[in-house]
Amino acid sequence: MIRTTDVVIVGAGPYGLSCAWWTACANPGISITVLDEGDFACGGIGRNAASMRMQWGLELNIKLCKESIAFFEEADRHLDYPRGIDLKQAGYLLLAHDEAALTQFKTNHELHKKHGVPSEILSAEECVKMVPLLNAEALLGGSFCHKDGNASPFLWLDALYRAARRYNVKICMATRAERIVPQGNHLLVVTNQQQEISAAKVLLCTDWAAPQLLQTIGLDLPITAMPKQGLVTEAWPAILDPVIISFKHDFAVSQVMRGNILAVVAQDRPDGSDVRTTTDYLSFAARQVLDCLPGLADIRVLRTWGGVISKTPDMQAVLGPTEVPGLYIAVSAYKGFMTSPAVGRIMSEAMFADSVHPDAAPFGADRFKTGELIPEPMTV
Ligand SMILES: Cc1cc2nc3c(=O)[nH]c(=O)nc-3n(C[C@H](O)[C@H](O)[C@H](O)COP(=O)(O)OP(=O)(O)OC[C@H]3O[C@@H](n4cnc5c(N)ncnc54)[C@H](O)[C@@H]3O)c2cc1C
Repeated sequence: MIRTTDVVIVGAGPYGLSCAWWTACANPGISITVLDEGDFACGGIGRNAASMRMQWGLELNIKLCKESIAFFEEADRHLDYPRGIDLKQAGYLLLAHDEAALTQFKTNHELHKKHGVPSEILSAEECVKMVPLLNAEALLGGSFCHKDGNASPFLWLDALYRAARRYNVKICMATRAERIVPQGNHLLVVTNQQQEISAAKVLLCTDWAAPQLLQTIGLDLPITAMPKQGLVTEAWPAILDPVIISFKHDFAVSQVMRGNILAVVAQDRPDGSDVRTTTDYLSFAARQVLDCLPGLADIRVLRTWGGVISKTPDMQAVLGPTEVPGLYIAVSAYKGFMTSPAVGRIMSEAMFADSVHPDAAPFGADRFKTGELIPEPMTV
């Protein structure tokens, strides 16, 4: 059976649903179908730490996250979601344990000022005053922005899902896109549900899995999958205000609104899409966290969990058209929660404009051919 629709979006994570909502808002009467092979929040969004920061070192990321955080602040109103998304804006404190990191923070700070990001450089003493749980040993200082924070990824996705449905976006779960076939000036999306959907525009929001579908239409982009793990503790009274990032320890640690502490600590593992957690992760991650935040020692861990992130050669998102007319892509490179509001807008415009907006153009897939990579110095 072949069905026709104006736009097919593959993937109902935050990218897919944000793009669907923005596209529906901007194009009244348009028909949009979103396909997801799994169930609600089954991708990276259901396995992430849902933190957001404007404190980046690259203007592109600063702009993307500034716009997104402004949207998160009013998500209840924008998306008609009165319950809210459990936004906790208690800031991000980035820690410097060496001169190079501190110098980078100072360079970033100048860029932040230019873009109206209210970051400040703190001395080691000021960091410890703000977070008494910190180990002051070898700490040189930090960078803080009170607008950064975290939220609930499930509430965020639920808000997007309901808002998109209100615009009559058709969301088909348990429906896998198997391949994409050019068909005149349309693209045919072949699914595992004995259904083929023909659309003028198809947008892939399948994150690390994007190459699987791209290959079916002869495209090869350097997007790979990397396992990532985290640990979560029991809920605890408010003890940790800002999200803590330590480049020395390669982690982000935060306390979410309902009291649990989340730690996403990088561990060397081969690339791949294995969502299992490794047997040595708990002891490895706990050591890293307690070395930096010894004041958390009494809190009991509930469990560890695993997820998969998308990787690109410069660890930046891939946003925009592909070489195949009508086929678009939005892949997050490990910032897909915090950038999803702005990416939805960018992609809704990219799909209907003659050219991509200059702010978004550097994220285009063509950079892998031209070599114009856009590496970000503040990646953990
Ligand atoms: C441990 C961990 C911590 C993280 N912490 C943060 C953080 O603090 N902040 C942040 O911004 N990001 C974080 N991330 C990254 C973030 O989760 C991702 O960037 C984000 O989920 C990407 O959103 P997405 O919509 O592109 O993809 P996803 O959320 O992965 O959704 C993609 C969807 O596509 C579907 N799909 C795939 N292939 C097909 C197909 N062929 N047909 C139909 N459907 C398909 C999947 O089922 C899935 O539902 C973290 C990730 C992990 C694993």
